[in-house]
Amino acid sequence: MDTYIQITAYGKNADKFLLAVNEETVRLEGIFSAHKQESELFALNSRKDAYSEELVSLVSEAIALSELTEGAFDPTLLPVSNLWNFGGGARIPSEEEISDALKHCGYEKISLTHNGIDLGKTELDLGGIAKGYAADRFIFLAKENSIESAMGSFGGMVAVVGSKPNGDPWKIAIRDPKGNGFAAILNVSDLCISTSGAYERYFTFEGKVYHHILDPKTGYPAESDLLSATVINESGTKADALSTALFVMGESKAVDFCEENGICAVLITKDNRIVSLCGA
Ligand code: AMP
Ligand code: MG
Repeated sequence: MDTYIQITAYGKNADKFLLAVNEETVRLEGIFSAHKQESELFALNSRKDAYSEELVSLVSEAIALSELTEGAFDPTLLPVSNLWNFGGGARIPSEEEISDALKHCGYEKISLTHNGIDLGKTELDLGGIAKGYAADRFIFLAKENSIESAMGSFGGMVAVVGSKPNGDPWKIAIRDPKGNGFAAILNVSDLCISTSGAYERYFTFEGKVYHHILDPKTGYPAESDLLSATVINESGTKADALSTALFVMGESKAVDFCEENGICAVLITKDNRIVSLCGA
């Protein structure tokens, strides 16, 4: 998944659970990676039919979250993100390249049919949601192995199962986007926490920072007034997609969105404020 994964688990099945999570993350990468040629998503993007119900189901959830966020989250940006290539050898594409690539993007161009997924001319990048699904699978496996206390961190995505063994809630830190310390601590039990931030993956050219969260309207890194957006939710999949979306929306829209949809989030603004929103 191109990130560090850290798992802590307590209980008599903890070893078995760790092995199961390890196997599961490898399995998930084999489905959802946009870049591994053997993956199911690669097959789908290459118009081959070799993909599972599980992929169809995450794509359908991704589309629903695109609709909910009015396209701030959009899983069809692969042609544009391939131009920027934040994963390695990043560069600034020309405006023409971006506008050409954008013609093939747009979640509303995908449809789910009884045969599976009709991508139209789009190509999918599930990088903004797949770690969240991995977090949901982590929770599922914890239940399956009767684990009552565990914490899994998948890059900017954390899932906690139960509370700490002493009964206290887990304490999860939100990183200070400008430093090495933390900006806030969340006390959580049985929840997923996803943070999207401009500082996670970026390059600098002539003094300007170019980061990996793209504005689907422009194809350029989102000009957000936020440094990071954190979403706390029972569903990892939802938390992941929504943290990406809130970052793209920026403070004002993100606040309205969370209030309207009862989403619990913590925004860190460029002018160093921490905005804590916990909806009903
Ligand atoms: P995250 O770290 O969860 O915010 O996801 C960022 C990743 O999602 C990027 O590395 C891209 O693969 C992909 N991505 C970038 N911009 C968007 C967007 N607006 N909507 C959905 N996925 C995106
Ligand atoms: Mg995300």
